Amino acid sequence: MRMKPVNSNNTNDLDIFKSMQSQEHEQVMFCQDRDTGLKAIIAIHNTVLGPALGGTRMWNYNTDTEALTDVLRLSRGMTYKSALAGLNLGGGKAVIIGDSKTQKTEALLRRFGRFINNLNGKYITAEDVAMTSADMSVIRMETPHVCGLPVNQGGSGDPSPVTAYGVFVSMKAAAKSRWGSESLSHKRILVQGLGHVGAALVDYLHKEGAQLFVNDINTERTHAVAKKVNAHVVSSVNLFDAEYDIYAPCALGGTINDESCALLKCEIICGAANNQLLDEVKHGALLAQKNILYAPDFVVNAGGIINVYYELEGYNRERAIAHAEGIYQTLTQVIQISHTQAIPTYLAANQLAENRLQRIATLKTRR
Ligand code: NAD
Repeated sequence: MRMKPVNSNNTNDLDIFKSMQSQEHEQVMFCQDRDTGLKAIIAIHNTVLGPALGGTRMWNYNTDTEALTDVLRLSRGMTYKSALAGLNLGGGKAVIIGDSKTQKTEALLRRFGRFINNLNGKYITAEDVAMTSADMSVIRMETPHVCGLPVNQGGSGDPSPVTAYGVFVSMKAAAKSRWGSESLSHKRILVQGLGHVGAALVDYLHKEGAQLFVNDINTERTHAVAKKVNAHVVSSVNLFDAEYDIYAPCALGGTINDESCALLKCEIICGAANNQLLDEVKHGALLAQKNILYAPDFVVNAGGIINVYYELEGYNRERAIAHAEGIYQTLTQVIQISHTQAIPTYLAANQLAENRLQRIATLKTRR
C-alpha cells in the first residue's frame, strides 16, 4: 500500500510497512466512516510495558501521508516518554484528520470510540491538540479505553499543573548538575508560551525567586502573566537577543533550530513543549557543542502522562505529583550518562528508555 506524497514537490511515496519497520511500530489502524466523515489513524508503537496510551490529535493535515508521519512519530515518542517515567504503559497515539472547529461532531467522536474499542484495550486514548476532556466523555460512551475525563466523572482533569511541576523539578535537577545548586533564585529564566503549562510554571519560578522573562504571541495573556509575577515582557522578534541562564520552551515544538541555535545564549534549556529540537540529531549535537545543557523534552514533560496514568488506577493527585517528582532523578541520571559517555542528552535519554524496554521484553520472554 502506498500513500500520496506530502506535497507535489516530493516524489517519494511513503511505504507504510517500511516506515513502521524503521521505527519499529507494532500496529497501525486506519479508520474511516463515510456517514460521519471520520478519517483517523491509530498507531501502536510498542506494548512491551503495557497498553499503548497516548492522546488523540485532531488536525487538518494537508495529506494522508502527513497525518501518518505525525502519528508514527508521536506514538514512538510516547513509548520513550512512558518508559522513562517508570510507567507500565506502552506508546500509542491517534490522529483524526479534519478541522476540529467544523468537523468534530458527537457522531464522529463516538464512531471513533468504537474503533478504539475494537482494539480491546491495547490502545487507550486521552486528549491532545484540539481535543478536550468533554470530547473524552463522548468517546467514553463507546469505550472504556479512554482517560483524561473531567474530574466530575472520576477523571484526572487538566494535566497541566502536574506537567508544570515536572518541568520545575527538572529545572532544579539541571541547575544542580550545571551550577552545583538546585536553587533557581535570581536565575534569569525565559519562559516562551504562557498557556496551561507555561502560566503554572512561572508561578513556581516566581515563588522560587527567579528573575522572569516571558513571551507569548497572545499579548494580552503575556501582560497579565507578567504583571502577576513581576516578569519582563520579551517580544517574539527579540526573543534570543539577551542572555539567560535558562530558556524554557513551553509553546510549540521546533523552536530549537538553525536560527535559534545561532542566537541562543543560555546555559540550560528545559521546558514543556513537545519535540523542541527541530532535528533531534543535528540540533541535539549543536547544543552539546555549545555547552548548553538540554533537558530532553520527553523526560521533562512526562507529568501529563503520569497524571492520566493515575486515572487508570483511580485518580489521586498527591500520588501523581509524588510520581512527577521522580522526574528529578530521571533527568539527573540522563545527564550523568550524557557526561560519562560524552553523548548528547537526548541520546542518553533514548538509551535509558531502550534499556528498560529491553529488560522488560527479556523478562517477558522468560516467563
Ligand atoms: P496551551 O495551548 O495551553 O499554551 C500554549 C501557549 O503558547 C499559548 O498561550 C499560545 O498563545 C502560545 N504560543 C503559541 N505559539 C507561540 C509562539 N510562536 N511564540 C510564543 N508563544 C506561542 O498549551 P499547553 O497545554 O500549555 O502546552 C504547552 C506545550 O507543552 C505544548 O507543546 C504541549 O504539547 C506540551 N505539553 C503539554 C502538556 C500538558 O499537560 N498540557 C503535557 C506534555 C507536553
